[in-house]
Amino acid sequence: MISLTTFTKRTAHLKPEGAFQVLARAQDLEAEGRDIIHLEIGQPDFETFPNVCQAGIRAISEGRTRYNPPAGLAELRQVVAEDAGHRRGMEIEPEQVVISPGAKPNLFFPTLALVEPGDEVIYPNPGFPTYEAMIGVAGGKPIAVPLLEENDFSFDLEAFDRLINDHTKLIILNSPGNPTGGVMPRADVEHIAEAAQRFNCWVLSDEIYTRIVYDNLEVVSIATLPGMQERTVIMDGFSKTYAMTGWRLGFGIMPVSLAERVQLLLTHSVGCTAHFTQYAGIEALTGPQDRVEEAVNEYQRRRDVIVEGLNTLPGVRCQMPQGAFYAFPNIKELGKTSKEMANLFLEKAGIALLPGSAFGAYGEGYLRLSYANSVENIQKALTRLEAVLKSPL
Ligand code: PMP
Repeated sequence: MISLTTFTKRTAHLKPEGAFQVLARAQDLEAEGRDIIHLEIGQPDFETFPNVCQAGIRAISEGRTRYNPPAGLAELRQVVAEDAGHRRGMEIEPEQVVISPGAKPNLFFPTLALVEPGDEVIYPNPGFPTYEAMIGVAGGKPIAVPLLEENDFSFDLEAFDRLINDHTKLIILNSPGNPTGGVMPRADVEHIAEAAQRFNCWVLSDEIYTRIVYDNLEVVSIATLPGMQERTVIMDGFSKTYAMTGWRLGFGIMPVSLAERVQLLLTHSVGCTAHFTQYAGIEALTGPQDRVEEAVNEYQRRRDVIVEGLNTLPGVRCQMPQGAFYAFPNIKELGKTSKEMANLFLEKAGIALLPGSAFGAYGEGYLRLSYANSVENIQKALTRLEAVLKSPL
């Protein structure tokens, strides 16, 4: 007899994202009347900028509510090519740009187009959980490279050199990184680029946090290094920079031949990206950028408060993150797993945060706190964390 519950192997490894699980539990507690401070979800606490909202509303009222080309509106592809090229100091043709509903499809579909079953894919661990999910769906073999706390959570290059081989098809990078906030130094990016060429691999560079960096630090896109553009997919989008997580708008930049394959995958899965949101995207990129700068300055202020506060807590040590909006403190001295500590903080103190292990095995011993929240809430959270840590665990 055929069981109706026999699901495919290619989906057997899929799990929910930790952030959504913790959010659900936190909301249950809120429903019971508990006061919860949300430091679990990775999204800006600002509203989408008014000029961007207006452009979306205008587009709807002008009837921009139709099917449109699978790779996106020509005008938006052009604007993305110019803006992304200008910011990175490289030439990008509009035909290389693929617009997608959120940035995630530009992780998933290039991976499906590039990775054959059995191919090895190197990815950062701790890292964004979608990487492992999509490698598995493509039938690839996930090869985790640990990130090193002492090197600003960049790749452990010794491990990388040991793990890369002739079966490696794709290398995934994420700088500035989720969950660590680390930015890869230029020398490390160059090292990886050289290896990618030597072993003839592709690189998928998740650059969604590229505009959220502090202290004027340089962020190097691997695509800008000699010989790399032809083997690199840049994934980026509007969610974080323009506080547009719910609009679902992102893009990929890749060689034209791959862009054509990804376009076909979009055609047969989602059809196209929503029509009116793309006009909001055009406004986001071509309109004033001062609100982005203000947001980054505000994140930096919050970063300084949360990191300083975390470093005063007993048993907690926190590196200064260089980008994104996450603090990733080391809690190994506390002698409990990161999941136990995350549960304890939620249940005892009403602080929702994520265990590092939600981002892979090498995230054990850390917690992720999103500081896309007010300084007032961050200070309140620090006081409550301290109270938990000063009482018997
Ligand atoms: N990459 C990373 C590293 C992220 O943190 C996120 C969002 N959490 C994404 C990609 C996905 O972005 P989007 O919501 O635009 O699909």
